Amino acid sequence: MRLISDCVFLMDRKMASHIVGYPRMGPKRELKFALESFWDGKSAAEDLKKVSADLRSSIWKQMSDAGIKYIPSNTFSYYDQMLDTTAMLGAVPSRYNWTGGEIEFSTYFSMARGNASVPAMEMTKWFDTNYHFIVPELGPDVNFSYASHKAVDEYKEAKALGVDTVPVLVGPVSYLLLSKPAKGVEKSFPLLSLLDKILPIYKEVIAELKAAGASFIQFDEPTLVLDLEAQKLEAFTKAYADLESSLSGLNVLVQTYFADVPAEAFKTLTALKGVTGFGFDLVRGTKTLDLIKSSFPSGKYLFAGVVDGRNIWANDLAASLALLQSLEGVVGKDKLVVSTSCSLLHTAVDLINETKLDDEIKSWLAFAAQKVVEVNALAKALSGAKDEAFFSANAAAQASRKSSPRVTNEAVQKASAALQGSDHRRATNVSARLDAQQKKLNLPILPTTTIGSFPQTVELRRVRREYKAKKISEEEYVAAITEEIKKVVELQEDLDIDVLVHGEPERNDMVEYFGEQLSGFAFTANGWVQSYGSRCVKPPIIYGDVSRPKAMTVFWSSKAQSMTKRPMKGMLTGPVTILNWSFVRNDQPRFETCYQIALAIKDEVEDLEKAGITVIQIDEAALREGLPLRKSEHAFYLNWAVHSFRITNVGIQDTTQIHTHMCYSNFNDIIHSIIDMDADVITIENSRSDEKLLSVFREGVKYGAGIGPGVYDIHSPRIPSAEEIADRVNKMLAVLDTNILWVNPDCGLKTRKYTEVKPALQNMVSAAKAIRTQLASAK
Ligand code: GLN
Ligand code: ZN
Repeated sequence: MRLISDCVFLMDRKMASHIVGYPRMGPKRELKFALESFWDGKSAAEDLKKVSADLRSSIWKQMSDAGIKYIPSNTFSYYDQMLDTTAMLGAVPSRYNWTGGEIEFSTYFSMARGNASVPAMEMTKWFDTNYHFIVPELGPDVNFSYASHKAVDEYKEAKALGVDTVPVLVGPVSYLLLSKPAKGVEKSFPLLSLLDKILPIYKEVIAELKAAGASFIQFDEPTLVLDLEAQKLEAFTKAYADLESSLSGLNVLVQTYFADVPAEAFKTLTALKGVTGFGFDLVRGTKTLDLIKSSFPSGKYLFAGVVDGRNIWANDLAASLALLQSLEGVVGKDKLVVSTSCSLLHTAVDLINETKLDDEIKSWLAFAAQKVVEVNALAKALSGAKDEAFFSANAAAQASRKSSPRVTNEAVQKASAALQGSDHRRATNVSARLDAQQKKLNLPILPTTTIGSFPQTVELRRVRREYKAKKISEEEYVAAITEEIKKVVELQEDLDIDVLVHGEPERNDMVEYFGEQLSGFAFTANGWVQSYGSRCVKPPIIYGDVSRPKAMTVFWSSKAQSMTKRPMKGMLTGPVTILNWSFVRNDQPRFETCYQIALAIKDEVEDLEKAGITVIQIDEAALREGLPLRKSEHAFYLNWAVHSFRITNVGIQDTTQIHTHMCYSNFNDIIHSIIDMDADVITIENSRSDEKLLSVFREGVKYGAGIGPGVYDIHSPRIPSAEEIADRVNKMLAVLDTNILWVNPDCGLKTRKYTEVKPALQNMVSAAKAIRTQLASAK
């Protein structure tokens, strides 16, 4: 008997391990360079296909070598998995003039990026990640057809390489819930009514996958973590009941991620017909554990996402193993599969390429490649074949992280603990402050300003790069940057702008610039994460208590102020934005890290004030981005985020004017939190949705502080006319008081050219002046 069972055990060497999805870019962004070279016409479609096939095969091989049992396919994408699904369904908007047949690069990339004659499809954030997907445009007239065989092709490709994979499809209900009515279609069009039209195509795909030999298939249905109404949940029931017979004979996993699955959704999900396994994010969705323990259906597979796909920390293997063992007791030994919390798309690719990080920090980290190994180690340990050496190395690394003096700074811990539970507000109310500031600043009504950055020229980038590489001396660098600031100051004076900026020539990134000067931050060489298409970001890693060894911006800000009599804005990135655009430590709550950053920025604000800077802008571009997916968690987040912002400027005089800037237009739902930030002036993106922003004030929300809704869109090269800008300002004046309105662009100007910026700002200033005259004569 013994022999036989050992034999079975040996045959099924691969333990129950699963990876939800994997980064596509490659360890050194190979896909990015291949895509961009193809788009620039510098290489052929075949070259792009070759690079991509090589990436896929090395990923499959890597997972297979690691011992992963359920290896995903069709998680590669030339641009985005939602767009791939749109291609699969043949849902190409008519403006791309697609005439049928298998969708080729030209149609695909036109949808993604637009072409000479038509704009791209809209792009929006994938849940609360920094990944952006292409939003399907649907309506009653879309003629769905099976138009991209990518899922089947990738399955076959892996199989030919000897790897039997789990093909991954965006689930039909999430696909529809994440789409929008096409132009010309009623806003109220029920997108879910299209289920009947897309399911036949899903059935074709499933049939082909089966014919090709697939035995397991994964549907990603992440919308199940949102607050869905009953009627939306019913769509899941209906869709999977409809697919049931097509799915028979297959193992079917419905995968969720990014948050808890609410109780109602959990009930719906676990009752789906034809589904044999359910995947949960047990890192962000710890409350789902209770539901699993109380009501996971018997006989089904539980894919337990214990390895964090959203961060770069090594897993606490001992803790995960204990959790998994407790789950084994719930679902049964042979029904538990170890998995990642979500696709590894949202973390960095491979630690092996990090040459800049020291060994101690490296021992605390795991990127995608290392996470694959962790998943497998956990699965092996569960099956009784624990790799003791691997586990003890991991335990040692966890312990070193806990006790390292680089992580803990007692003074910072104390200071941030003291902030909790208390409130921080400037002593005087905003209208009294604005009066005091006006006495000092003496600004005209409708004061003009810009958001901070000026065009970043090739020359500027070269100077920064060469300084970093120590190819030019500090003196040369300071001289070059000073020259640039002078140019920007003179330009603004010529344009007659009222409150100036220095143009941010010394910064290549609004978070990295500060992170590099704060302690507790580390930077990777290749820790890229896909943001959209070929674009990647390289978030800093916050590993320890944050403090500010010395002033960060005072040198440049005071230099800039010395060049002009007009107020020069000090320019800082706010704590919430620094937090939301970094990989954040997971050994303390996010709010604690945020408070620490807030204290560091507070020191900087006070130093700027001491240096004679009277207007200080603290950008919170990403405040809204950090809003949790679930409404029930909004208030808590907004409370600490807004508190963090206020901490930065409680310590200053009434006469110092605090500005903040936000990069989104849709703020109506959080307007009260924005008011609660208690900034003196807020500049905010607006020009792509005038009506939305202003409606909140029309509906009677009282806003007493200064406000500058952007008067033109800096995302486009188009130069707005003075009339058009004046028109906008007049519309704003219909709902906002004359004495609180500021005139400024939507966002920073760093991505624009001087040939666009000069005339646009000129028109902006003349519009402001024209309205001032008009208002003066009306008196
Ligand atoms: N001050 C920054 C700039 O002007 C703000 C950028 C942003 O909001 N994303 O570039
Ligand atoms: Zn902005």
